Amino acid sequence: MQPCSIVLIPGDGIGPEVTTATQRILAAAGTNIEWIPHQAGLAALAAGDDVMPTSTLEAIAQHGLALKGPCTTPVGKGFSSVNVQLRKRLNLYAAVRPVRSLPGVHTRYENVDLVIIRENTEGLYSGVENEVTPGVVMSMKVASESSCTRIARWAFRYATHRQRRKITVLHKANIMKLTDGLFIRCAQDIHNKEYPNIDYQELIIDAGCMRLVQDPSKFDMLLLENLYGDVVSDLCAGLIGGLGVVPGANIGDEHAVFEAVHGSAPDIAGKNIANPLALLMSAVMMLNYIADQRGDADAGAIATRIRTAYDQALADQCKTGDLGGDLGTDAFATAVIERLPA
Ligand code: ATP
Repeated sequence: MQPCSIVLIPGDGIGPEVTTATQRILAAAGTNIEWIPHQAGLAALAAGDDVMPTSTLEAIAQHGLALKGPCTTPVGKGFSSVNVQLRKRLNLYAAVRPVRSLPGVHTRYENVDLVIIRENTEGLYSGVENEVTPGVVMSMKVASESSCTRIARWAFRYATHRQRRKITVLHKANIMKLTDGLFIRCAQDIHNKEYPNIDYQELIIDAGCMRLVQDPSKFDMLLLENLYGDVVSDLCAGLIGGLGVVPGANIGDEHAVFEAVHGSAPDIAGKNIANPLALLMSAVMMLNYIADQRGDADAGAIATRIRTAYDQALADQCKTGDLGGDLGTDAFATAVIERLPA
């Protein structure tokens, strides 16, 4: 693998535990990564910095890549969300969340294989809220044609690149005729004009959620605006074993930040029981991204070896408590390392 420098944000709560475990596995698998540590969230505040320090954003812009643990934004103290700031300020407009059934992890469903694409910069996450009059507050939902078109084009391009067959947009355009109406119109345009060979479907989100839990195998890729993508990501995590097993990437035209879908899980922090798999899978996505973007085939080969190793660990019933096993965070990492193919 070609040498590369990657910003590492350990994060808060279980973040430091799952990042350490992930780093151990990546090192054992033979990656050639120089980690550039930076802080965000409570850890940054404790160091006397902003919740989303400019130095962290500048480092990601400089190195182009980051692996990020979950960060906590203090509630009710006027801080705007670390994750929302990071995604907006670096223009990481596409959140990609693969959701697939794992060997040895038994749930109500088999053979789930979905990819969620969430628009990361607009919708109700504009953070524009005000008090119209005492007792009446409002929150502004923003959609722009350029951003809706950009995420739709990104999703269809991804589908083509990854040999996916169908994109389903979940929306509520029957109620939010302007904002969600624009979102589906832009997706229809990109489908009709640029990618007519990919199947395209629209479902009102409430009915779509019902159908997802009835039979997820009917879906392939989901395309959603910001808030719906947030909620449906956790719903889909529940189909395959929970938040401990869903990775994610936030991708823009210039930079990318890889992080698990889960948050900092303060209830289990510091106990060496968190599942590091979601962050490890995010790191595997990062290696595949490096392989694609930089033409580094070795990075792709290492990603495949790590995936083989964690699939084997799960098949051998090496699991953390959230999946019904009894291994701690460190012991699970060791089990994966022991199964890395030569
Ligand atoms: P935040 O406010 O940072 O989003 P949260 O506790 O509200 O944190 P999550 O961290 O996403 O929400 O997780 C919800 C619950 O799911 C946690 O309290 C924890 O019990 C469980 N959980 C989340 N991630 C993991 C993990 N990696 N391993 C095991 N359990 C997890």
